[in-house]
This record gives sequence, C-alpha cells and structure tokens, in this order.
Amino acid sequence: MIDFNLDKTISWQTALSQAIQDPQELLALLELDPSLLAAAKSAANLFPLKVPRGFAARMQKGNVNDPLLKQVLPLGAELLDVAGYQQDPLQESDVNPIPGLLHKYQSRVLLTFVGTCGINCRYCFRRHFPYGDNNPGTDGWDRALDYIAKDSSITEVILSGGDPLVANDKSLWALSEKLNDIPHVKRLRIHSRMPIVLPERITADFLHWMGQLKQKPVLVTHCNHPQEISPAVEQAMQALSDVGTVLLNQTVLLKGVNDNVDTLVDLSEALFAAGIQPYYLHLLDKVQGAAHFDLPEEEAKNLHWGLNQRLSGYLVPKLVYEKAGAPAKLPVELYTA
Ligand SMILES: *Cc1c(COP(=O)(O)O)cnc(C)c1O
Ligand code: SF4
Repeated sequence: MIDFNLDKTISWQTALSQAIQDPQELLALLELDPSLLAAAKSAANLFPLKVPRGFAARMQKGNVNDPLLKQVLPLGAELLDVAGYQQDPLQESDVNPIPGLLHKYQSRVLLTFVGTCGINCRYCFRRHFPYGDNNPGTDGWDRALDYIAKDSSITEVILSGGDPLVANDKSLWALSEKLNDIPHVKRLRIHSRMPIVLPERITADFLHWMGQLKQKPVLVTHCNHPQEISPAVEQAMQALSDVGTVLLNQTVLLKGVNDNVDTLVDLSEALFAAGIQPYYLHLLDKVQGAAHFDLPEEEAKNLHWGLNQRLSGYLVPKLVYEKAGAPAKLPVELYTA
C-alpha cells in the first residue's frame, strides 16, 4: 500500500497546503513510469501541478490512462502551439468593468473571488488568466459591491475564481454581510470544484454560513467523471442539501476522460444519487495547451444525443459552449435526423 497521507484529523487548509505539487511524487505514488517525468516537469513550469492527496487516492495505480490522473498530469502536449487555441479564448478582459467583477450576462455578475484553486486542471481556460492582477484584495470588494448595489437588474451574484472555496469562511461572511444590504440580490451562487476534490472543505462552520444566508444558496460543482464522487463527497453533498443548498453540476467534455456515452450516463446517475442536478456539459474552451483534450463538435453532438436517448430528460445536462461577446452560453444544436 502506498501512503497518500490521508489524515482525517487535519484541517482543510492543511490538507490543501499538502496537495501534491511535485510531478516526481505524483508518479511515484501512482507507480507510474518515471520516463513521464521530464515532460511533466516542463509542462508544470508553465502551469504548476496541484492535486489534493484525497483526489489522487481515487486514482487507479499504474494506470496512465486513469480519467482522474489525465485531468491533472502535466504533459508535453501542453507545450505545443496549436493553431486556433488562444491564451484568453473568452476575451474576458473586455467585460471586466471593475477588478474582480465580470458582468457578461444579464441579471447576474461573477466575482473572481480568489485567484487560486484546490486543484490545477490541465484543460482549464484560465490557465493563462492573470488571476493575481484581477483580485482586488481584502478591501477592494467595495467597488464591486457598489457596482452591484447601483444596478437593480442584478438578482444573482456568482462567486467564482479560481475557486471561491479556497477563501476562508471569514472572507465569505464579510462578503455575504455586505450583500445583505442589497435587496435586489436574491441568490448567491458558488462555482467550486472544492467539494469534489477536497470535500473536507465543507465544515460545520461553512455549513452554518450557507444555512444562514439571506440569499438562496446555489452551489455549482465541477465534476467530470463518476470516479470523482467518493463517499466523503456524497456526505458533503448531503450536508449542503440539508442546509437548503440547491446543488448543480457542470462538466467539461474531455477527450480520454469522459468522451463516451457510458461514462456520461454513469456520471449523471452518480451525481443525481448524490443529490446534484446535472446542469451544463461544456465544450472545451479553445485555450492554448489544452488542444489534446478537444473533441470534434460532431462527436460532442453525437454523445449528447446518446445521453438523450438513455436518460430521463432531467438527467441530461445542457450541451453548451462559450463564445466571446455572446449574451449567454450557447447551446450546441441537437442531432437532427
Ligand atoms: C458562465 C457565466 C455565468 C453564468 O451563466 P449561467 O448560464 O447563468 O450559468 C455568469 N457570468 C459569467 C461571466 C460566466 O462566464
Ligand atoms: S478548479 Fe476550475 S478554475 Fe480551477 S483549475 Fe480546475 S477548471 Fe480551472
């Protein structure tokens, strides 16, 4: 047995700080071929490796094609400059009126609440995003809150990032207290991969905060494969649901990870069993370094049609993609035959 250092008595902050960041350690823990190391190191120089030990423990040892490993292992393919793949595919710098605030769609704004994540996903569209430049710092949220207060068409505030649940509970309390003074904000939505990759984050204190919010709490998890849903994840979800959280999930369609109907069916089933409603299935954003995860659109449509034929309608996530300048996430047209 390999020791993943899963110590249930440590805090989530400690678990996070102990995430695996050295490619050599990841390869050793998973008993993988050391010849993968050179490429992993060069790719990790561009975008660091980061994987919580509890997430790594859900991977199959000795399997370089493990669907969880593939999402985090830095590869030489990331260094290729592929035509059509850009640094900022969503041109987010254009819809960034105030540092930390994105107002792209009507009725909701997105706050990039923290710059870091609990895990570094290799396909991430923000792998080149200037997180640091876009975080206003502890007292900088006043400008964003002012902007929200002045626009009564904003009924929902979305905390995103990075990953907003890397923030401590104190910052979350501080923000929600200020939102309490803005009556037109009815919902507080959190986009986070933390409950999946580090379910220890869902502490009693955090649940207390969620449960007392004036705004209706919505949590959108990010889960790509049924193997990510461990018993600890299920417990965290149950606890979140018990305090009144609406639970949704978004998935990114990834070649070699979840690009078959059986996996996507199992994922929807496993999410729903854990109390989470499938929400979005995203086509990959065309970000430089992630081209090897991309699927032809035709194949994505066929997979989605396969899901429609196998699952109850409410278990089928919407297949969407993002286009710079579009007023909403765009649905991918369904199969017509
Ligand atoms: C995805 C996104 C949202 C949320 O869109 P929904 O379709 O409501 O889930 C809001 N703001 C920005 C900037 C986004 O990228
Ligand atoms: S958790 Fe989300 S934002 Fe963070 S690296 Fe993964 S995909 Fe990107």
